Amino acid sequence: MAEHWCSEHETVFFKRGKMKTFAHPIKDEEGNSTGEWCNEAEQEIEPAGTRGQSRQKPPAMSKDDWAEKDRITRKSIERQQSLEQAVNLCIANKIPLEKIGSIAKTFEAYLEGKDVPAKSKLIDEAKKLGATES
Ligand SMILES: [Zn+2]
Repeated sequence: MAEHWCSEHETVFFKRGKMKTFAHPIKDEEGNSTGEWCNEAEQEIEPAGTRGQSRQKPPAMSKDDWAEKDRITRKSIERQQSLEQAVNLCIANKIPLEKIGSIAKTFEAYLEGKDVPAKSKLIDEAKKLGATES
């Protein structure tokens, strides 16, 4: 397949001299020049532009973006683990049902590396119930 082929006029585009783009003269049905030119770039502006946009659309993730995505994922896992551990404590009758929410928050803080000495006993209990440190 020719690279600069005009499928509309079934002829080849060419570029020479001071021509800025590939083009070909448009001829009438009898093959006489009409004095008009068919410009290759004009025909391709839309698809080329669309292709360019879609190529640019997914912005490259920087290291910071990945770190942030990682942080959010880890946060969500931590939250889930914290809730599970609080529920386990409740099932084991270590905490009352209504404390699950606040205890889960405590575990979350613990998993984040925050200092939660007042609740360390509960964390020990959770570990006994099979909670693992990540
Ligand atoms: Zn043409």
